[in-house]
Amino acid sequence: MNNFQYKRVSSPIAAITELAKDPAAKLVAGGTNLIDLMKYGVMSPDKLVDVNHLNFNEIVKQDGSLHIGATVRNAVASANADVLKYQPLLSQAMLSGASPQLRNKATMGGNLLQRTRCGYFYDISAPCNKRQPGSGCGAMGGYNRMHAIFGASSSCIAVNPSDMNVALTALDAVILVTGPKGDRKIPISDFHRLPGTHPELDTTLDRKEIITGIVIPDNAFAANTTYIKVRDRASYAFALISVAVAMELEGTTIKDIRLAMGGVAHKPWRLKEAEQMLKGKQASVENFKMAAELAMKGARAYEHNAFKLKLAPNTMIQALKTASGIKA
Ligand SMILES: Cc1cc2nc3c(=O)[nH]c(=O)nc-3n(C[C@H](O)[C@H](O)[C@H](O)COP(=O)(O)OP(=O)(O)OC[C@H]3O[C@@H](n4cnc5c(N)ncnc54)[C@H](O)[C@@H]3O)c2cc1C
Repeated sequence: MNNFQYKRVSSPIAAITELAKDPAAKLVAGGTNLIDLMKYGVMSPDKLVDVNHLNFNEIVKQDGSLHIGATVRNAVASANADVLKYQPLLSQAMLSGASPQLRNKATMGGNLLQRTRCGYFYDISAPCNKRQPGSGCGAMGGYNRMHAIFGASSSCIAVNPSDMNVALTALDAVILVTGPKGDRKIPISDFHRLPGTHPELDTTLDRKEIITGIVIPDNAFAANTTYIKVRDRASYAFALISVAVAMELEGTTIKDIRLAMGGVAHKPWRLKEAEQMLKGKQASVENFKMAAELAMKGARAYEHNAFKLKLAPNTMIQALKTASGIKA
């Protein structure tokens, strides 16, 4: 690991100033991803700017939304009474991630920005356009079992590894950021990006901006939400496929629905066509199967991940059945 400076800041302006004056500085929150990447030599910031002492550690139910500060720990958010009451999907997704010890350290801001778990990104002897632009993609012709089936490019087939991000995408969360040009609100669907020709960029956040919080608009989904994560081990493993469902039912009719998938793309994958198809329809296995077929339109597998083409729709059907309470 390279030598680096450590700077503790106590105001957002101080954090932004540090980022602005040093292009090789990085913010650190829980450190559960960044410090690993530094140990592996994947990232080598010359300064760590510690955001833990900024005042972003509250969860507040406001009129029309739930606000969660950027430095709130994943463990705290997943057990919070307002999160459980108003946005249980978020809690379900976060509890399926990592381990209790990691969730005690991991923050909301850090989770949003955690980097891919592609083995070629972590292996500094392998080519990786995300780690070293222009070096090639080791995964494309290599071992690509964990990799994307949607939205990949010829530069990168890595996936976003976060569970939390999948739930936030289904819930239409908004990311609050501040930077040298002032405050911005970024809808989560515009926050993470597809790899295109610049896979080194995971998000649309500017290097000098910091995340201050997340806002989830109120909805009527709390009674019918499910997060299903399929993985190699029952705990402490990243998703092969995950599906977030948030549904509003009127009797057995689907009044409103949101669907997102994880483990399938460089960003959490929203399934808008399937949502449109299901809105106003009966919650039935037949309709769920049709929606899952629609959701898989355009999917493309690589040598080792063709199983995802079946696992993804099957997981989606199961998640829809669970969220709606249909047994058969
Ligand atoms: C063994 C292991 C298993 C895991 N399993 C899972 C899993 O199954 N599912 C899952 O979803 N996650 C999993 N994780 C990932 C874990 O959730 C993330 O490491 C964690 O959420 C990152 O949060 P952090 O606060 O520690 O971020 P850090 O490591 O401190 O930072 C991560 C990135 O975010 C940036 N950052 C942090 N805060 C801010 C801010 N306020 N504004 C702007 N930038 C910021 C940092 O500069 C850095 O680039 C696992 C991690 C490990 C080590």
